[in-house]
Amino acid sequence: MSMTNKKRAIFLDRDGVINKEVNHLSNPAQFEFIPGSIEALKILKQKGFLLIVITNQAGIARSLFSEEILNQIHNKMRRILNQNDIILDDIFYCPHHPDFTGECNCRKPKPGMILKAQREYNIDLQTSYMVGDTLSDIETGIAANCKTVLVLTGYGLEERKKMISIKPDYVFENLLEFAKNF
Ligand SMILES: [Mg+2]
Repeated sequence: MSMTNKKRAIFLDRDGVINKEVNHLSNPAQFEFIPGSIEALKILKQKGFLLIVITNQAGIARSLFSEEILNQIHNKMRRILNQNDIILDDIFYCPHHPDFTGECNCRKPKPGMILKAQREYNIDLQTSYMVGDTLSDIETGIAANCKTVLVLTGYGLEERKKMISIKPDYVFENLLEFAKNF
């Protein structure tokens, strides 16, 4: 297949990027969009990117919440986005944790979820972006050969201090600043 048939994607960490980081979000009522993130997703969609959420949800492995609850949280996120005429193309989540469920290939910073999305949607990784608020997200993007973006929402301000040898390609205040300015 030629390059021109390939799609470009924005791979989005969820917590601390789209919605407020509350440390193991386990109730749909706690789900709250970060100001500007809905507008940001609209802009990114208009720029022609697939919008794909890539999220570690080890709370499932830890029995902090069920997959049913996670689905309810994601349904709420999708419903509000749909009300704003935004369709999320997909959500990939890793329900594992090595201490509880053993090693897996999907938990970030491994690139398994991005590679799975790449196969399903025929994505050109080199012209796609991984956006996250942690070092782990940036490592994931690098491992998958994507461009990487650190946002300073969520854990971003603290996590930036850990980035000594591993550097994101871009740093933005939040998802909206990225969407408007890259
Ligand atoms: Mg995060």
